[in-house]
Amino acid sequence: MSHTVVIVSVDTIEKMKKHYQSFLVNAPTHAVFMAKKGNVTITAYRSGKVLFQGGGAENEASLWNADKVIDKKKNIKASPSLLPSGFLQSSHIGTDEAGTGDYFGPITVAAVYIEQESISSLKQMGITDSKVLKDKQIAEFAKEIVSRKIPYSLFTLENKKYNQLQRNGWNQGKIKAMLHHHAIEKLLTKIIGMPLEGILIDQFCEPAVYKRYIGSESLKLHNNTFFMTKAESHSIAVAAASIIARAKFVREMDVLSQKIGITIPKGASRKVDETAAYIMKKYDDEVLASVAKLHFGNTEKAKKYM
Ligand code: MN
Repeated sequence: MSHTVVIVSVDTIEKMKKHYQSFLVNAPTHAVFMAKKGNVTITAYRSGKVLFQGGGAENEASLWNADKVIDKKKNIKASPSLLPSGFLQSSHIGTDEAGTGDYFGPITVAAVYIEQESISSLKQMGITDSKVLKDKQIAEFAKEIVSRKIPYSLFTLENKKYNQLQRNGWNQGKIKAMLHHHAIEKLLTKIIGMPLEGILIDQFCEPAVYKRYIGSESLKLHNNTFFMTKAESHSIAVAAASIIARAKFVREMDVLSQKIGITIPKGASRKVDETAAYIMKKYDDEVLASVAKLHFGNTEKAKKYM
């Protein structure tokens, strides 16, 4: 789907609103208006930014005298330009997960709410994408986030339950979508009455697919939910969520290592296959099912080491 973003004057936005009067639909919070004309969706923001989405977007946009045209005909993917302007500097929720690419260990998903006033001090502290931090730093930052009483929620999906869901036909995408949804839901109950501009999900699938996953369990996206790939490097709330989720994952891996009696490796490498083989030899199948994501290719590969 193509989209075009134009920057126009406030006057032009008023003219547009009149022009699209008979096509107006419910607008998102930060929008001046939203209209659906044929297969083009037009969303105008207070900043002067107007987004045209869908087939014919470019044609429709060309009707207007724009000061500037950006992002012509790119695929629709969440990107900073699609967030309401100022969103990343405002009070918002961010969500992220850990453990999804690791054969061993649970999936952990966190949602964190950051108030506008705390954004700069958290940035100064060094809160950033957990992927660029060492496990020790992650643990320290996670502690700091908790001690500052920053509202968050955290879900851990243990392997046994993960394998059950997987056998029941839930793919990993659906499992993740449901965990993100529940994490958001729980966090929202903790921040009632506090300012909230919206929710930013670190994008792991197309937003339409995410909606389909939660829709299949009769759930709906919350208002003002946005998706962005690599959101942890743009949003302090998503970065904090990535830290909380990763710290919990690391702690859980330590617990599993204790339980099995050897260090359980992260990731999905050859070392992982060898460890799986060791567990298969030493314990019964149930033990492996309680520490690993059985549908990963590693299970089959491990059998070669038996
Ligand atoms: Mn992520």
